Amino acid sequence: MHRRMAEPYKIKSVELLNVLNDQEREQALIAGGYNTFLIKSEDVYIDLLTDSGTSAMSDLQWAALQRGDEAYAGSKSWFRLEQAVKEVYGYRHVIPTHQGRGAENLLSQLKIHPGNYVPGNMYFTTTRAHQELNGGTFVDIVIDEAHDPMIDLPFKGNVDLNKLENLIHKVGADQIPYVSIAVTVNLAGGQPVSMGNLREVHALCHMHDIPVMLDATRCVENAYFIKEREPGYEYMLVKDILKKMMSYSDGCTMSGKKDCLVNIGGFLAMNDDDLYTRARELVVLYEGMPSYGGMAGRDMEAMAQGIYEAIDDHYIKHRIHQVRYLGNQLLDAGVPIVRPIGGHAVFLDARQFLPHLRQEEFPAQSLAAALYLDSGVRSMERGIVSAGRNKITGENNRPKLELVRLTIPRRVYTDNHMDVVADSVISLYEKRNHISGLGMVYEPPTLRFFNARFEPLSANGKLI
Ligand SMILES: *Cc1c(COP(=O)(O)O)cnc(C)c1O
Repeated sequence: MHRRMAEPYKIKSVELLNVLNDQEREQALIAGGYNTFLIKSEDVYIDLLTDSGTSAMSDLQWAALQRGDEAYAGSKSWFRLEQAVKEVYGYRHVIPTHQGRGAENLLSQLKIHPGNYVPGNMYFTTTRAHQELNGGTFVDIVIDEAHDPMIDLPFKGNVDLNKLENLIHKVGADQIPYVSIAVTVNLAGGQPVSMGNLREVHALCHMHDIPVMLDATRCVENAYFIKEREPGYEYMLVKDILKKMMSYSDGCTMSGKKDCLVNIGGFLAMNDDDLYTRARELVVLYEGMPSYGGMAGRDMEAMAQGIYEAIDDHYIKHRIHQVRYLGNQLLDAGVPIVRPIGGHAVFLDARQFLPHLRQEEFPAQSLAAALYLDSGVRSMERGIVSAGRNKITGENNRPKLELVRLTIPRRVYTDNHMDVVADSVISLYEKRNHISGLGMVYEPPTLRFFNARFEPLSANGKLI
């Protein structure tokens, strides 16, 4: 018999939700210009816009806030956070930052010189932006399969060692300040990297004296996939797998807003003494003293506690289960989604979902709007709207993928909420021929997806 699983926590405090009726949702959608970024959070029933900074804290984390030591220098809370990072991730040195990109800024400034190349397993927006700001060129070394949404592989975030080796031979190891490995790969859909691959990348890099820096943002989710999928790890605790993963690197950047179960915070960690000394100096300029780095004492307390809670096997097992629980219901109903289901989100393939819409009719934007209209579920477009325009020609960039991202916040929703989301997506799939495309009626000059406004293209002006 298949035994079902429930959330490994119970509810001590609840946040009441506004449940809007059909007319109210339609009004909210029109007021927001059919853009889910412009809908007020109070008008949203289930918010799957992002998993960043949206985690629910535990009672122990809320209690830890009270313990926050707000001393300007040498805060007790800092030493607790430093201890948690050293103990759980195994690095020798830690620099706190206000969030992940603060750590990316420090690392990029300290390591990258103009003309350098920074290889990575697919880019991430802020990571690449900081590399480029410092004169580096990002080079994608992820396996080709990571770019295909339909190929089902256990470790789709792996590095193609040939690509890395070729780059080293082409530009020379001295032009590569570090290799940046994301565990898991966000933009591939939360796809993990195997322990075997991390070991090989580390060995190759060390032969050439190139440090390996992890983007550890979702490293606990990655560790759990290793436990599930890589032979030899099925009986190991997630915390031990995690520490072994990190041992194949020389440091990491971390956004605490994801796998550290807090709403704000981050850090840069490393083993190298000299890099640490220089980072201690630079952090003062951008974040604050090396004993708070842009975080309040109470935020450091909450993060220290969250770091320990995240490596509990029951927590992470249910976390991955919940994402898959949603994804599998959609797969069973024949809804086109990106495969395999990753660690933090389910991605709807809007091109296949709405084949009657041309890309200029914004299929993913239309589907995200339709989902809100149907059930008050908020998702995010990742397609032609997000891709923006070519800076030189002014033409729309036309990404291969038109996706709607359903991102699951950690410990916030129950599996019942996932049922509501699945029912809504499936019912939209059944009437997909009746979903109209959108026209953009206001286009901001930069990062247009945040503020763009749309109207349905249908004859009666209705989206569905
Ligand atoms: C969120 C994220 C970052 C940046 O972290 P912030 O805390 O948002 O600054 C970096 N890398 C990945 C993979 C992320 O998901």
